[in-house]
Amino acid sequence: MNVQSKVPHEPPRRIQVSPRDNVAIIVNSLGLPAGTEFSDGLVLNHFVPQGHKVALADIADGGNIVRYGEVIGTAKGRVARGDLVNEDNVVMGTAPPLDQLEMATRPPPKTQPLTGYSFEGYRNADGTVGTKNILAVSTSVQCVSGTVEFALKRIKAELLPKYPNVDDVVVLTHAYGCGVAINAPQAIVPIRTLQNLANNPNFGGEVLVVGLGCEKLAPERLLPAGQTGVLRMQDEAFVGFGAMIDGIMAMVEDRLKVLDKRRRETVPAAELIVGMQCGGSDAFSGLTANPALGFCADLLVRAGATVMFSEVTEVRDAIHLLTPRAATKDVAEALVREMRWYDDYLEKGGVDRGANTTPGNKKGGLSNIIEKSLGSVAKSGTSAITAVLSPGEKVRQRGLVFAATPASDFVCGTLQMAAGMNLHVFTTGRGTPYGLAAVPVIKVSTRSELAKRWNDLIDLDAGPIATGEKTIEQVGWELFQLMLDVASGRKQVWADRWGLHNDLTLFNPAPVT
Ligand code: CA
Repeated sequence: MNVQSKVPHEPPRRIQVSPRDNVAIIVNSLGLPAGTEFSDGLVLNHFVPQGHKVALADIADGGNIVRYGEVIGTAKGRVARGDLVNEDNVVMGTAPPLDQLEMATRPPPKTQPLTGYSFEGYRNADGTVGTKNILAVSTSVQCVSGTVEFALKRIKAELLPKYPNVDDVVVLTHAYGCGVAINAPQAIVPIRTLQNLANNPNFGGEVLVVGLGCEKLAPERLLPAGQTGVLRMQDEAFVGFGAMIDGIMAMVEDRLKVLDKRRRETVPAAELIVGMQCGGSDAFSGLTANPALGFCADLLVRAGATVMFSEVTEVRDAIHLLTPRAATKDVAEALVREMRWYDDYLEKGGVDRGANTTPGNKKGGLSNIIEKSLGSVAKSGTSAITAVLSPGEKVRQRGLVFAATPASDFVCGTLQMAAGMNLHVFTTGRGTPYGLAAVPVIKVSTRSELAKRWNDLIDLDAGPIATGEKTIEQVGWELFQLMLDVASGRKQVWADRWGLHNDLTLFNPAPVT
């Protein structure tokens, strides 16, 4: 394919983040051909695809390659000004040592509170606020998944239409419970995840649990404190499958009656608990969508809300930028503890954090996990980090919180749901149809090409930041307003419109027997 002949006549554009950088990202949608000359005299020595890096200066063999003002690797062989820089000529360094970090040395000063912003939500008895009014049917073991899915079809057809104020009924099915080493120390992760999922603010405290009867994880352990509502399929009272389904339907209808009486009320923006993550990242993630989300995260923190960022392997290489921002030494130490736990977890599996970067990431211009991480942590904005959660724990603090999770979109989303998020923001460069049944997911594209191609999947386009048509602050404010609209039920995200809802995916670092 002759790529050069397809390049339209538009001025060559590149983005350099920090004045210290010796590489820049090509913005033009079709990339730029060899011989392209920029107004400052830089001439491309090769075709450079969109999102890929060009060297701004000669770099000696072994010299540092700098993006975001940080070293992302060293040159493999001599790199000339104008050369394409990618994983073929960048050698990745080691992750920052965990015993030499600055701990809570530069917590950002408190910023001015942001007042006057609210949304329409469902107040819960425990003080949290839901953005949807959903009945959840949880499960204590995977053996019952098919049964509750069967019941769900009848519930949606026969019961839900009678209760118009209930948004949906969802089943919390998963692949845990049978043959698990329930007393293994790490089993606490999937167990507390299931417990806390049932407590998600969007479930209104009316969760039901369907169990089998012979599993190790007692269904009662998954109910919110003080609640009843367990059905065991092996209960001798049930004669035949039809009776079990009738039993589930009867329990469900009781709870639908309660939830149907609820109404939205005006609550401050401080009641938002936002989970942030990215997936299918590209070189623009750290230039457009993630910085805009970071600006928005700062607005949320100023409004008194809770904002979580996650994905350990995507913060590990930027941890030296995060521990100084911890509000206290304890928080900094908790950050290090989660990094160390994950380093050990990966080592036991015979890999390191470099296993994170995907072929799609590389095609999108990301050379390695260091470059990906520096773009990923832009989501965290500039606020002080006020708390750290281990995987599956429930968030109890306001402000910017690091919730440790794997970077896998589905595992991260499930753990953030367990942490109690009532709104999810997902940034993507390559594109993903990601969605959750229980929590609205706002998808933000890093490039306008994706937003145009996926015009009925992407909710907000951060691409105009790359072309200079909008600022990071403008898109950050747009996202903030969109969050309030979606949380209020005034606007529907595309994933909900199409009913694109991922399966829950539990993180189980413990053995299966
Ligand atoms: Ca992810």
